Amino acid sequence: MTNASTDAGIAARGVDVRGVNKSFGDTDVLHEIDLSVEPGTSLALLGPSGCGKTTLLRLIAGLERPDEGEIMVGTQVMAGSSAWVPPEKRNVGMVFQDWALFPHLTVGKNVGYGLDRAERKGPRVHEALDMVGLANLVDRMPDTLSGGQQQRVALARAIAPRPSVLLLDEPFSNLDSALRVGVRTEVHRLLIDLGITSIFVTHDQEEAFVLGDEVAVMTSGRIEQIGSPQDIYQTPSSPWIASFVGDVNLLKGTGSGSRAETVVGGLPLVTNTTGAVDVLVRPEDLALERNGPGLVTLTEYYGHDMMVTVDLDGTQVLVRAPARAEWSRGDQVSVTYIGDAANAFS
Ligand code: ATP
Repeated sequence: MTNASTDAGIAARGVDVRGVNKSFGDTDVLHEIDLSVEPGTSLALLGPSGCGKTTLLRLIAGLERPDEGEIMVGTQVMAGSSAWVPPEKRNVGMVFQDWALFPHLTVGKNVGYGLDRAERKGPRVHEALDMVGLANLVDRMPDTLSGGQQQRVALARAIAPRPSVLLLDEPFSNLDSALRVGVRTEVHRLLIDLGITSIFVTHDQEEAFVLGDEVAVMTSGRIEQIGSPQDIYQTPSSPWIASFVGDVNLLKGTGSGSRAETVVGGLPLVTNTTGAVDVLVRPEDLALERNGPGLVTLTEYYGHDMMVTVDLDGTQVLVRAPARAEWSRGDQVSVTYIGDAANAFS
């Protein structure tokens, strides 16, 4: 695995996790975890509550030891059958869910906390605050800052020691929804500017897709699929993943090679399939026209578009329609497939 140096003085290193298992007592929490994060890229660990995301992050940080397998940062084995590097020697920064600033320390002292005593007086505190755009707040106390500013101070504290890898555990979950998207965009830009390798935990699909160059979808201690957000969304490896990462119709159908017959008519398949299948159709791959056998039973207006639920022969079908179209409950409609090809599961 190569290293990559960035303008911010950070030598981004990749992360490799190989065959990692972890139990707590009788509870198996992680099974055969394999993943690889290239230097300077970001990986989202996405999954429902309790699937083991935080445990995996803590293993990479060195806050837990694997029962089996190996964890590498760059070319160095940090944890394995014959190696153990303690967390403070891994050059890995971690940002926790609550971003936990020390209330009795100034912004500058908070940021300097993870540095050697000699370095605290040096340029690193200012450099780190500069990177997050808060150099002018160095003498302020945390309770005089907005929520978004506090998040940025916590981020500056994590990057001040110039870690090779930054780990973030649900970094935006404590912010209210109005603030969350703005802070997320700021952090996104900063991670790109820093060129740092980052791994972050989230149960929010949108957050994983927006921030992750790659997304690892986890359930019950396993990685079910790992790939780019586009791969995961467009070619999910199971119906469960398809519905976990977005709205989807799973339509009963009959495959006959490259096509399947469904309640929305015949449609092309990504891979040839015969017999009974569940066909995965995203709502944006369907279009509505006036008059037809379908009955609009629900509309949800989002501003940028609207979701229309259509009863087609007893099947409820979701259709994402342009917001300018005026669909209402009770409308009679027809539904047509406008996508390129659909995935089917036997
Ligand atoms: P959430 O999104 O709710 O934070 P998660 O996917 O991050 O969940 P983990 O926190 O990794 O999940 O927990 C995975 C499982 O391991 C859970 O069943 C949890 O109760 C268990 N677990 C985690 N840490 C410990 C521990 N120190 N001792 C015993 N069980 C633990």
